[in-house]
Amino acid sequence: MNVLVINCGSSSLKFQLINSDTEAVLAKGLCERIGIDGRLTYQPAGGEKAITDKAMPTHTEAIQFVIDALTDADTGVVKSLEEIGAVGHRVVHGGEKFASSVVITEEVKAAIEECNDLAPLHNPANLIGINACEGLMPGTPMVAVFDTAFHQTMPSTAYMYGLPYEYYDKYKVRRYGFHGTSHSFVSKRVAEFLGKDYEATKTIVCHLGNGSSICAVNNGKSVDTSMGLTPLEGLVMGTRSGDIDPAIMEFIAKKENLDIDGLMTVLNKKSGVEGVSGVSSDFRDLTAAAESGNERAALALEVFAYRVAKYVGSYAAAMNGVDNIVFTAGIGENDAAMRSKICAYLGYLGIAINEAANAKRGEEIVISTEDSKVNVLVIPTNEELAIARETVALV
Ligand code: AMP
Repeated sequence: MNVLVINCGSSSLKFQLINSDTEAVLAKGLCERIGIDGRLTYQPAGGEKAITDKAMPTHTEAIQFVIDALTDADTGVVKSLEEIGAVGHRVVHGGEKFASSVVITEEVKAAIEECNDLAPLHNPANLIGINACEGLMPGTPMVAVFDTAFHQTMPSTAYMYGLPYEYYDKYKVRRYGFHGTSHSFVSKRVAEFLGKDYEATKTIVCHLGNGSSICAVNNGKSVDTSMGLTPLEGLVMGTRSGDIDPAIMEFIAKKENLDIDGLMTVLNKKSGVEGVSGVSSDFRDLTAAAESGNERAALALEVFAYRVAKYVGSYAAAMNGVDNIVFTAGIGENDAAMRSKICAYLGYLGIAINEAANAKRGEEIVISTEDSKVNVLVIPTNEELAIARETVALV
């Protein structure tokens, strides 16, 4: 079956058409600047990437262009919509309502809408994508795959904040965690790759990308993760602060005369390694700047590595041990120097890195030495494939 995987943002929409039997990507692309002007990037497997400006006042036009591109007589990869058996939608927040993926119904859409409060930038956009697809592909089954679902196995000790309990009761303020599709995919794949029983291993997944999070997976279940009610908590990220003393907010608000929206913009968009370095959120730029003597860029990289190492230590404690530590996503998969820097803090766990293996890029590989007490690996993540698999399993 061909599955169309849709990841819809407020002004963008990423898509992949995946053949679920071969797991091959037939075509992929991106609609950008929806509601502004509109641009479609489309690439069939083995073909040229084409970028065209097209008016996209709403997501409905964007999805129509995606369908047109996929079924185009010259560059399309299917003859008609009938060859698309299902659509898998990435949905950011499933709150406490969704502990797994679901076939989308009117009730499911209403439940997703009830989570809008928890992800006001993402869930409404995800719903717009779902509605637009339903309008253009009536009768095609659709599945929602939630970023939060994998973490619903966390015990209350891990998800409760030290806040008045009534905020949990009234507003469901608790840790939810994100990147669940990636943490689930990667932790499963590690067990498979090493020939181990997923349900009898302790794995720490370091999903290090523009947004970064860490997850402790004990016997196949997420037991703790670094993002919280929102993706702002935890690691120092590209432009997000991660953990800070909450009192800093009041302190800075007074000094800089900022309201709560202004503060949130600082914490989400002007902080992280970009804020510390003043250079960039991209680790390639930071590395180049650090190598040419920029001390703040070097500091940002050190701060990032140290925070990751602290979380790894706390999750080894949370699980009373760790068998595997895995790096994934843009930084985790590509930045060998950062992996070394992080692992240099982990000698107390009996970890030793094989630097020749660590220097390889983009493949599934064990980067620890034979006698390392913990396996350290790089496993490329593939959230679209994970969504396609979940979708097929449900339809
Ligand atoms: P992601 O969000 O998983 O797509 O990761 C994007 C981030 O990965 C970028 O912002 C870069 O910081 C980082 N990245 C991508 N490629 C490389 C590379 N070759 N070396 C270092 N960092 C990289």
